[in-house]
Amino acid sequence: MKIKLKKVAAGDGGYFYFNVLQLNFGDFLKASVSDYQMECKHCSSACIKVGKQANGNQKYRCKSCFKYQQKRYRYNACLIQDRRSYFIKLHNEGNGIRGLSRILNISCNTVMKWKINYATDISSPVYHAHNHTYEIDELCSYIKHKRSQIWVMYIFDTTLKKVVDFKVGSRTKENLKTLIDQVLNKSPKRIGTDGLSSYRTLIPSELHKVGLRYTRHIERNNLNLRIHLKYLARKTICYSKSTKMLEASLKLYFWGG
Ligand SMILES: [Zn+2]
Repeated sequence: MKIKLKKVAAGDGGYFYFNVLQLNFGDFLKASVSDYQMECKHCSSACIKVGKQANGNQKYRCKSCFKYQQKRYRYNACLIQDRRSYFIKLHNEGNGIRGLSRILNISCNTVMKWKINYATDISSPVYHAHNHTYEIDELCSYIKHKRSQIWVMYIFDTTLKKVVDFKVGSRTKENLKTLIDQVLNKSPKRIGTDGLSSYRTLIPSELHKVGLRYTRHIERNNLNLRIHLKYLARKTICYSKSTKMLEASLKLYFWGG
């Protein structure tokens, strides 16, 4: 390897330049040539210099696997340790997209991408529970603007203290039916709801209970959701701009941890 040394003009503290690295003379003597060679991050072979990035950073290419790489990157989103669980923890503690972006020092686009990816990996859990007590309720939120109302309908298993399934959309009979059918398949002991008229036609009267006494668990859980999810906070301008993102948030909160 050819080492090119260049003495810097007087008054610059007697510094030498080795390619793009600036070292003082003592450090330069101690360091070996191998310290300045790039080792491939994928296969540990030697890399060669192949021009520069638009921002001036030196670009390298591996001689064996031909992958392009840099010694140092400015954007270090991929270096966050244990990022899935850390991201979900932060998300479930009331941090929105911009909050997560500021804490993790990553872009808003990366936050949204991670959120969608992590939520896609999660599917609703299958509980083989029989004779349990369930509660169903709806939670109001907005999509895009405050004139567009949307409802989060979900089933809460009071025995397991877990959310069985949820649906985001309008409070129609069809949407409620898909949820209620799931509960009826589990041969429930009791289904508690509020006084919404659709429930009376969808749930058999011998299982159906209406009133605050029969929805106290889910109402308490609604408060947790309002506190822990930024999208569902009341009387703020924090609401989702798309149903997909709201569903992703709910999935991470219910089954992500
Ligand atoms: Zn390589």
